[in-house]
Amino acid sequence: MKPGTLLALNWKMNKTPTEARAWAEELKEKYAPAEGVELAVMAPALDLSALAANLPAGVAFGGQDVSAHESGAYTGEISAGMLKDTGATYVVVGHSERREYHGETDAVVAAKARQAQAYGLTPIVCVGEGLEVREKGEHVAYTLKQLEGSLENVGPDVVIAYEPVWAIGTGKTATADDAEELAAAIRDALTERYGHNADGIRVLYGGSVKPENIAQLCGKANVNGALVGGASLKVTDVLGMNEAL
Ligand code: PGA
Repeated sequence: MKPGTLLALNWKMNKTPTEARAWAEELKEKYAPAEGVELAVMAPALDLSALAANLPAGVAFGGQDVSAHESGAYTGEISAGMLKDTGATYVVVGHSERREYHGETDAVVAAKARQAQAYGLTPIVCVGEGLEVREKGEHVAYTLKQLEGSLENVGPDVVIAYEPVWAIGTGKTATADDAEELAAAIRDALTERYGHNADGIRVLYGGSVKPENIAQLCGKANVNGALVGGASLKVTDVLGMNEAL
């Protein structure tokens, strides 16, 4: 069974709540669901209430990070319970920007994913190698090791996003064959870890995905959708990607 396709948008640190509302209203006016494609918007926590109130029915939303802790003296953090209360169903964990700028290790990423699952949120766990690793030809081993660490004691209700760091926000997309190579390796590792429970797990590709290349990337056997940064900000691009899938 091939899992359904997920078009996951990652706004990163863009859009005020007012802008988020306008974006959701524009989407509501123009969006037609594509068969077998789920659309989900990962937004700054402050935007989630505006999305909850204004997104078209059937479009999911979630956060871009979550605390590994339950509640209490963690100034500035957002808990899984808070995200859940907005109506969020997903949360991104271990994005390469969190790993790089906030020192998140695989163990921290796994703790965040477990905390998300404890509240019924599906974590979108990001993995992927930097340029140096790719140039040494060690990208498969590196990414699988990161995957193992990031899934420690994490259940199978996850989405995995393979995002080669050298392809994020650079306009340099991995080829569809590069994406497939890692997606297939990740799929095997998931099956080894979860058995048949891995069958429904979606493995996404991320890194400079746009309307012009999404069909080719997601047309590969083991790529079940995309995590999209830059091209998620304009509704027209999102509609273009949705239609191309
Ligand atoms: P990009 O970002 O589409 O702008 O390359 C992808 C991501 O960081 O999730």
